[in-house]
Amino acid sequence: MYDVEKIRADFPILSRQVNGKPLVYLDNGASAQKPQVVIDAITRGYAEEYANVHRGLHYLSNLATEKYEGVRGIVRRFLNAPSEDEIVFTSGTTEGINLISYAWAAPRLQAGDEIVLSVLEHHANIVPWHFLRERQGVVLKWVEPEADGSLDPARVLAAIGPKTRLVAVTQMSNVLGTLVDVKTICTGARDKGVPVLVDGSQACVHMPVDVSDIGCDFYAITGHKLYGPSGSGAIFIHRDRMAEMRPFLGGGDMIDTVTRDTVTYAKPPMRFEAGTPGIVQQIGMGVALDYLMGIGMANIAAHEHALRDYAQSRFAGLNWLNVQGNAPGKGAIFSLTLNGPAHPHDISTILDKRGVAVRAGSHCAMPLMQHLGVSATARASFGMYNTMAEVDALVSALELCHDLLG
Ligand code: PLP
Repeated sequence: MYDVEKIRADFPILSRQVNGKPLVYLDNGASAQKPQVVIDAITRGYAEEYANVHRGLHYLSNLATEKYEGVRGIVRRFLNAPSEDEIVFTSGTTEGINLISYAWAAPRLQAGDEIVLSVLEHHANIVPWHFLRERQGVVLKWVEPEADGSLDPARVLAAIGPKTRLVAVTQMSNVLGTLVDVKTICTGARDKGVPVLVDGSQACVHMPVDVSDIGCDFYAITGHKLYGPSGSGAIFIHRDRMAEMRPFLGGGDMIDTVTRDTVTYAKPPMRFEAGTPGIVQQIGMGVALDYLMGIGMANIAAHEHALRDYAQSRFAGLNWLNVQGNAPGKGAIFSLTLNGPAHPHDISTILDKRGVAVRAGSHCAMPLMQHLGVSATARASFGMYNTMAEVDALVSALELCHDLLG
């Protein structure tokens, strides 16, 4: 039985007030709050267990290395990757996708080669590919979503041509909550010999993910959305793609030997992790993932689906409210606008006065905003600790917006 009150008690910040009202935190799509076990792990990491990793032979360095390297196995389990050697640590999804752009795509793609992208993508899964367009003449091929915000895998597969070298697609839109059938995309792309990068930043927070079942080549995650520290993250890289990658960042830890005239590199995944990493951040992410797996991703998904259904039923009664995207099975992320001139920033400011934290803006998804014909939305994004009462609090704060702005 999913005990949301017990889970809430694990997150100290949820008991604070904002603007004299109980905090209703609905900005999880941007970043999630941290449970006490993660906060404790960070404190312990610095107060009792801190040293640099990999380099020392002293007690604390060995302890930090053991804990840090242990996280690779935790990420492997969380994603059901075949091997922990296919997990590269990053500072988050942005770094993960840039790593693939620089280390895998840049040396392989030539002018006229194509990358297939969906219009749902976050800038983190757009701009690294624009770099290749600007610098190497790579062509970006865009796949439009359907009217309900869903992405038809058939359209993605139809966009693959003889010059397509990569498909890069999100598993869940951070704006609309749309879930994308990445497994069908991967199966079809594999038949055409084209690798697939999946941006898993949002999806893996809300549902069980199995990269072996999906059959993707790259799967990027970011720790701070997974109730872990900012500056933590990882990317699953299929071993065959890893073998094709050249080193990206150069420095300590990623080498085997260095002379004045030569350098040889460490084996992957270390080859792609130069310099001192976010040691305590990654250890904190490992604790967060263990915490999530302890509760069970399927249980979290069921709770959030109930929140989504309830929110949708409440929104249905508000004829002055527009909810962007209503794809079947979408996640509990709602991009909202009001009929009339009200700006999403004003909505978010009024909600904030009621203690309700949402995000207003283009959500790092300008091509999607252009597609939707809006410059911004107010986004309410739910997480594992949100409640039905918080849906009601959101709706009553939106009613206030309508009274004041509508
Ligand atoms: N992709 C998606 C779908 C996101 O929602 C985000 C963060 O908002 C990112 C990528 C980038 O993640 P990060 O900023 O943690 O690197």
